[in-house]
Amino acid sequence: MKRILLIHTGGTFGMALKDGTLAPSAFVQKILEFVPEVKRIAEIESHIVANIDSSNIGIEHWIKIADVISANYERFDGFVITHGTDTMVYTATALSFMLDGLSKPVILTGSQRPLSEIRTDARNNLINAVELATFSIPEVGIFFNNKLFRGNRTKKLNIWGFDAFDSPNYPPLAEVGVGIEIYKENFLKREGGKLNVLKNFSDKVFLRENFSFFKN
Ligand code: ASP
Repeated sequence: MKRILLIHTGGTFGMALKDGTLAPSAFVQKILEFVPEVKRIAEIESHIVANIDSSNIGIEHWIKIADVISANYERFDGFVITHGTDTMVYTATALSFMLDGLSKPVILTGSQRPLSEIRTDARNNLINAVELATFSIPEVGIFFNNKLFRGNRTKKLNIWGFDAFDSPNYPPLAEVGVGIEIYKENFLKREGGKLNVLKNFSDKVFLRENFSFFKN
């Protein structure tokens, strides 16, 4: 059986309803209790990097995630990262450049509704992300609502629908329906080889579009 490491960072996925608002909770430790089926797909171990809203995720967390992947790289066949949807693309993009020489799947997923709710999309997303992480997909991808996209080509386009993400300028890497279709021709051609984690970030980059807001 394949071995998958589940790395949790937070977001709606692992939140439980408390006093009418969604709050982080010990609920995340129960993920495997809520979706025991994943244990039939792969041997699962989990690691909690953080349990926060993804708007608070940045360089320090990206480095922690990459370090967890690197430290466990030989022991696992694939990695699934549960993450809030708001900045999932940023994390996926950062990891795609940090994980030089990647030859195993690193799949981010999350949900629009928490795992604890009856009409949740978290179950579908988690089960399929874990299953896809057992395939030979040497990519940092985002799995959401039945499609696996290349992480650094993905956009969050919908805050309401379960089809929150799309990759308008790049075809999906895989699709899940009655079966699973893997589109190998869309994989990045990687040399493979040894994983080398790059961590040289600059925190001096600013998005100039926002400048007009400060001028008035
Ligand atoms: N605000 C949440 C987050 O990005 C939304 C979500 O999880 O979808 O962490």
